[in-house]
Amino acid sequence: MHHQRFSPRADYRLEQSVRTKASITLSEKFRELKALTVEFGYFTAQGVTRNSQIKYTVNPDFAKSVFRLDCMNQECCCGDYDLSDALTRAVAARQATVTGEMACQGWLSKTTIDRIHCLNILRYKLTLEYGKRAPKPATQLQAV
Ligand SMILES: [Zn+2]
Repeated sequence: MHHQRFSPRADYRLEQSVRTKASITLSEKFRELKALTVEFGYFTAQGVTRNSQIKYTVNPDFAKSVFRLDCMNQECCCGDYDLSDALTRAVAARQATVTGEMACQGWLSKTTIDRIHCLNILRYKLTLEYGKRAPKPATQLQAV
């Protein structure tokens, strides 16, 4: 029997992690993407830095195409940063580097739901490497 305490924060994180795990990998979604490096730092809504810059390399064969980074606010509810769209735009334009900033759209804490947004800022830089574009599917060639 399941008896869980109401926790919108944990529910949300669980939901997002299920969504992430269910998504296809980056190399399945973007066949020409060969390598991805992500650098990011967290800032308060006022733009004050909270920690050092983090940098890591993602293997597109294993990383999921729902690409999210957690908000640094331990009390944050239903926010976090979803870089999936930024990544999709970058690959579509075959950009080698992309920088951007996102404000967390979650709530500051579970006691401020529907009242105060989190708005912590993530500043990120994506570095992308591409291989040869995969050949077009054979069905398109048969039409000739
Ligand atoms: Zn947040």
